Amino acid sequence: MLSKEKTMEAIGIMYDMFPDAECELRHQNPFELLIAVILSAQATDVSVNKATPALFEAYPTPEALSQAPIEEIMTKIKTIGLYRNKAKNIKACAEQLLERFNGEVPKTREELITLPGVGRKTANVVMGDAFGVPAIAVDTHVERVSKRLRICKLNANVSEVEETLMRKIPKELWVKTHHTMIFFGRYHCLARNPKCDICPLLYMCQEGKTIMNSK
Ligand code: SF4
Repeated sequence: MLSKEKTMEAIGIMYDMFPDAECELRHQNPFELLIAVILSAQATDVSVNKATPALFEAYPTPEALSQAPIEEIMTKIKTIGLYRNKAKNIKACAEQLLERFNGEVPKTREELITLPGVGRKTANVVMGDAFGVPAIAVDTHVERVSKRLRICKLNANVSEVEETLMRKIPKELWVKTHHTMIFFGRYHCLARNPKCDICPLLYMCQEGKTIMNSK
């Protein structure tokens, strides 16, 4: 596995490659971010961004969303994968926000993960992007990049990947690193065709060397 120093060397190179990495889900407030992240599970940010402007225009608050007929919500998000379940979750989530949190999005992980459709990854994104609370959300890109570079063990589960990253990266860089690794995975170290031949990390990437040797 990469040492702390080598991990930060790799992440520093990713920062240089993607200096403007940020959350690509369109949102204007914590409520919209929370709903967008719930909708993004097993779906692309692009598909979520296509649907959310009309959704948020129709239901701009937890109150409006909680009162919306479920069929209407489904219609507005039906281009997003798993839309039936997600419609139920975001409506129930809005209801819970009203009933238990005074219509506000809570700021702690413990509270966030009690909401329908919200797991640890979603909670971490909301904490980091809506409230600036240090957190590393491990999505498919963060996990793949961490494993290919051997920042974490190949057989690590999502929680272990998160723990390893938190141990190796200074807390004040968690949110920035999360976004940067997502950009690096989404646009460079792609799942199917990673750009190893032009990758500035190839010199330290065992997997990249194996991929290059097999070409
Ligand atoms: Fe990803 Fe290839 Fe770069 Fe390794 S060398 S980080 S596998 S793109």
